[in-house]
Amino acid sequence: MGVRKLCVIILLFFLNTCTPFPASRLHRGARSINDWMGKDSTTTGSSTVAMNSREETFEANEDDRLQVQEYLERNGYLPIAQVFGTRYRISDDNFRNALQSFQRFVHLPDTGVLDEETFRLTVSKRCGVPDLVGPAQPSGLYTSWAQWHKLDLTYRIVSHLETIAEGALRATVRSAMEIWMEVTPLSLCEELDPEADVDIIIRHERGEHGDGVAFDGLDGALGHAFLPATGEIHLDLDEQWTVGRVPENNGTDYMSVVSHQIGHALGLLHSGVEGSIMFPIYTDKENINLSYQDVLSIQSLYGNADDSADVQHRCRDRTTTSKTLTSASVS
Ligand SMILES: [Zn+2]
Ligand SMILES: [Zn+2]
Repeated sequence: MGVRKLCVIILLFFLNTCTPFPASRLHRGARSINDWMGKDSTTTGSSTVAMNSREETFEANEDDRLQVQEYLERNGYLPIAQVFGTRYRISDDNFRNALQSFQRFVHLPDTGVLDEETFRLTVSKRCGVPDLVGPAQPSGLYTSWAQWHKLDLTYRIVSHLETIAEGALRATVRSAMEIWMEVTPLSLCEELDPEADVDIIIRHERGEHGDGVAFDGLDGALGHAFLPATGEIHLDLDEQWTVGRVPENNGTDYMSVVSHQIGHALGLLHSGVEGSIMFPIYTDKENINLSYQDVLSIQSLYGNADDSADVQHRCRDRTTTSKTLTSASVS
């Protein structure tokens, strides 16, 4: 078994995803939140499990409750409820507790009630990496247990997209790498020698693609990445990827998603603050910038930038000898 495959298996164990995620029902039969807004509450299914104060516009029925249970399982809030391959409905207490954890993570009121705003977030496009991974960081940082022990890293895009020209794709990935380089001494450089080893590989994959974490077609999970030193970023080939800002629900901005996944590949987990680049749920942003906490988190792993102005030159000037982290710069 290769070292890379072993690393993937170990990481999946820690992410509680040794069992592949169940096939998503999100974004398929799910009614949109706009459907809910116009719905007559008297036509709701018979098994209503919760409602909020705006009951004239939203009620969650049993199908929604099971759909959200699956969401909570996939994203680290619940173990997968399954016996001999058969899924089962968890108790209302367990569901409420897990929903409260999710609401606290995304900074919603932790009512434990499947209200309209909570439901809307669970049917939004998002990262495929679970939210609750490892112990909570009392510092408020969202670093993982893993980091690279060198500062010069290389990457390669091993498959391209039909919808984005190769040159535009490479430029977008380069810009995403530079966001992280500007605040750290990292060099994140594209390796052009096809024979050379690289640290981070970017792939575009569809459905089952060999790591046990299948993609789910259009929308739903947009991508996932593995922590150091596995160095793999996978983006869902079935998304409508775009370069440049587009209105919500009209494609998915590649820059936004790949910037987030690079954060994982460097050792960061999810932040529950919407302004963070590591917020797991996709939002339409005009500009892709690191938040203050993003900067503190990545700098706690790799130190501050020696000179942020030289980002454009780091890859041009890099040598084959990797700089080694000094003990002072390792948290
Ligand atoms: Zn993520
Ligand atoms: Zn994958």
